[in-house]
Amino acid sequence: MTDNIKTMLIYNTLTRQKEEFRPLNAPHVGMYVCGPTVYGDAHLGHARPAITFDLLYRYLQHLGYKVRYVRNITDVGHLEHDADEGEDKIAKKARLEQLEPMEVVQYYLNRYHHDMEALNVLPPSIEPHASGHIIEQIAFVQKILDAGYAYISNGSVYFDVEKYNKDFHYGKLSGRNIEDLYETTRELDGQSEKRRSLDFALWKKASPEHIMHWPSPWSEGFPGWHLECSTMGTKYLGETFDIHGGGMDLMFPHHECEIAQSCAALGHESVHYWMHNNMITIAGKKMGKSYGNFITLEQFFEGKHPLLSQPFSPMTIRFFILMAHYRSTVDFSNEALQAAEKGLARLTEAYERLQKLQPAATSTVDVQGLRERCEEAMSDDLNTPIVISHLFDSAKAINSVFDGKASICEEDLKELQSVWQLFVIDLLGLRMGEEQQSSEAYKGAVDLLLNMRLDAKRNKDWATSDRIRNELTALGFTIKDTKDGFEWSL
Ligand code: ZN
Repeated sequence: MTDNIKTMLIYNTLTRQKEEFRPLNAPHVGMYVCGPTVYGDAHLGHARPAITFDLLYRYLQHLGYKVRYVRNITDVGHLEHDADEGEDKIAKKARLEQLEPMEVVQYYLNRYHHDMEALNVLPPSIEPHASGHIIEQIAFVQKILDAGYAYISNGSVYFDVEKYNKDFHYGKLSGRNIEDLYETTRELDGQSEKRRSLDFALWKKASPEHIMHWPSPWSEGFPGWHLECSTMGTKYLGETFDIHGGGMDLMFPHHECEIAQSCAALGHESVHYWMHNNMITIAGKKMGKSYGNFITLEQFFEGKHPLLSQPFSPMTIRFFILMAHYRSTVDFSNEALQAAEKGLARLTEAYERLQKLQPAATSTVDVQGLRERCEEAMSDDLNTPIVISHLFDSAKAINSVFDGKASICEEDLKELQSVWQLFVIDLLGLRMGEEQQSSEAYKGAVDLLLNMRLDAKRNKDWATSDRIRNELTALGFTIKDTKDGFEWSL
């Protein structure tokens, strides 16, 4: 390890303990995070892994590492019922909306990027698409077949879990064993191409109505969902790499199957540190499309959902997520978000005051040790709630200087400003002050113009309505009329 790089503790799901982070090839770090399946708008459940691993990405770079961050885009092979049953989620959307599947992908990917930018989530180094790596996925399946851990059935290829489990341990990540798993999975109905219920698809032969398919040695078909991450992770980060992250809901079967595929194809594990963020619940239940209780990020930003009493800014959402440790559950409520909004306002006020403080000859506030305390909390498996509590303590000192009840010398003031810049802006990634105000003001101004256009349309004042639309379009805005009003993007 290079001397001047600091290390940190990371909780490894695989070993179930906090470990000192030792990259394979310091200062280089390879990090892979499972990204979205792009067939619908992102919701709060998408924001959490994106923000958690954005924080890790920022912090590792702060510690001195050069991080290659790969976050994939699932645009093929994610079927409605786990790895091998039901219609492809994207193909289904394309069929319902009469679009090309890649039109669906592009549309939701653009919107995902827009939401991530609003949340101040940095773009990853590489964002590979599953559909762009079919050749590599076919080669990966062939390796597993050659190693004897898969079988061909009616043009599809399935992973042989039982055979694999004789040589490796299927279930090690999620702490399961195959005897228990057999008890909880459905019996095969005799019609199945699979030998046993735990086997999963590596390649599926496409049925005639399946619109996304590619030629392969086994059939005209498409890859299984788990395969893309094993393939693209090792393609861009090497046969072994440092960190693999994702939401806890992906641990089984997705990540368990990834481990099995990599061990089967390569003879060894690919990942050193498995990291999982916990879930966001709503009234104690998991939030997600399949549960029918999800609120999209756009609905949060605009306040357009029956569960929301008001809009919540992207920074409030980010702060709300960072207020909890990434391995704890977060229960969403309107009140919890309002509390986050208040907390963020207090932090923002202190930040703005800090920029205006005038130094005195001596300090009566103590700023020593703040940097170390924040760093210690971050290095302890990204303990953001502790970092935030240190910042609130420091906000009290800032406010007392601002109110004239205490003083701060020039050296201490510079240190305090530098610590706040580092932890609040650069690492927690909170936009404050002018940047935040101007982005909100800009959004508010465009909404105002488009609401005036709606009024004009209601009054049949077509000249005004057309003028607002045409001039905004000429400035580069895309405006779409919807049944609730309008949508816009730049
Ligand atoms: Zn994945």
